[in-house]
Amino acid sequence: MSQIRPIVIINAIVITGDGVTVLDKASVLLANGRIEAVVELDLPSLFPDHLVLDASGCIVMPGVINAHAHGCVFGPSMPSGSAPFDQREVDYQRNRHLLSGTTTLLNVCGLALDDEIDAGPNGGHPLDVHISTAHTPASLAAARAVDGEGLSARHLAARIDDLLSRGAKALGEAGGGQTLGGGAQDYRILPAAIEKACGIVVHPNLARLLKEATLGRSLDGADTAGDEALARLMEENGLGRHFTAESLSSLIRETVMPPVALARRGLAEIAGEAARTGIPAIFHNAAPTASQLIDLARAHPKARIVAGHSNHPSFTAQEALETAVALRDLGASIDVSTLDGISTRWRNGPGNVDALVEAGLVDTISTDFAGGDWDGILEAVHRLVRKRLCLPAAAIAKATGNVARIFPELAGDRGLIARGKRADIVICHSHNLARVRHVLCAGRIVVFNGELRFNSISSQEVSEGA
Ligand SMILES: [Zn+2]
Repeated sequence: MSQIRPIVIINAIVITGDGVTVLDKASVLLANGRIEAVVELDLPSLFPDHLVLDASGCIVMPGVINAHAHGCVFGPSMPSGSAPFDQREVDYQRNRHLLSGTTTLLNVCGLALDDEIDAGPNGGHPLDVHISTAHTPASLAAARAVDGEGLSARHLAARIDDLLSRGAKALGEAGGGQTLGGGAQDYRILPAAIEKACGIVVHPNLARLLKEATLGRSLDGADTAGDEALARLMEENGLGRHFTAESLSSLIRETVMPPVALARRGLAEIAGEAARTGIPAIFHNAAPTASQLIDLARAHPKARIVAGHSNHPSFTAQEALETAVALRDLGASIDVSTLDGISTRWRNGPGNVDALVEAGLVDTISTDFAGGDWDGILEAVHRLVRKRLCLPAAAIAKATGNVARIFPELAGDRGLIARGKRADIVICHSHNLARVRHVLCAGRIVVFNGELRFNSISSQEVSEGA
């Protein structure tokens, strides 16, 4: 029997995604891809036609909406317009998002076109992927100044209005780690330049230290550690044999800085476009862009500004808080990204996320990319709940209902467990919200008992397995 039968989820603790509502023992009825009803009763015997999914011991929540991710489409990757990811990589990224509870994803590389969302034979992947657009002259020029290998004449000729008319759901990402001396400089571009010059492969953390010693965290030379600190880093890491402090700092400057001024102009262009179009715009929020972003939010009060990854590692916790307060006062939404800072902890930690949530400043949680090391959104949700930084309903809203409210063009029809909403649902373990058991997309079971299931599921399997 096919799984597009209507479904009743029983014995559920339902967290609806509105930020406050928890139903301790409820049933959720799904039909025709939508939520038909949510009732505080156990009803399976009343619905003999429905497939019964028993959620005992589990929490039922809306599918996660990730509004800041990369690597999930087949067009130019990242705000640097780099070569596209290949099919296997895109499949892996999409599968990983789905298995971690994300059912809707906004790919914010920003320079891909609508016909590059599903270029591969796996067009039927159940993760609902959308694109944003950053097709402005300076953003495209910034991409070309640092890379631009994935950009064709079609991408260079495209403009925001074209993409919006063809279904792009947001503007941005305005700026990025590649073009603004951020994470991608540390994990990819700067190590490649140093290796090319001397054959030594430097760790991303060392690349970040060298970059900050030379340019400062805001790339304006304001808080550099000075030549002595740079010389010490070089000696400690075997670079002194290959570079003088002067030659290494000019290599760093020549690698990091060419796209920076263009990217900053791109931020201004996109803020103007956001005000003109009324479409939400995602900005790269980090030490090099924070004060500009605050100025832009002030200059464009009508723009719906989303400050992406406001926990960026270029910020101290204090700076992250001050920036978020200033932006929020001007009406911007504050997003934090898991990066690799929740469970992976290779380059980043959770400190700035904790501080921002504790201060009540966070609207939404996304993953960003972190060189592919991103941790799941529900890992961050679980952390916040376990650390008692917020209640489960409030934590889950940052991954569902709040995202839908801030991005209605993307997700206005979902993100809540309520009648009429799209039946995107996550069923996870009540003791660990990151332990995803079942996922439904538009009423179809696509993850079952922790396993990807793109084919139909029989009622016998459900009754035996759930
Ligand atoms: Zn970014």
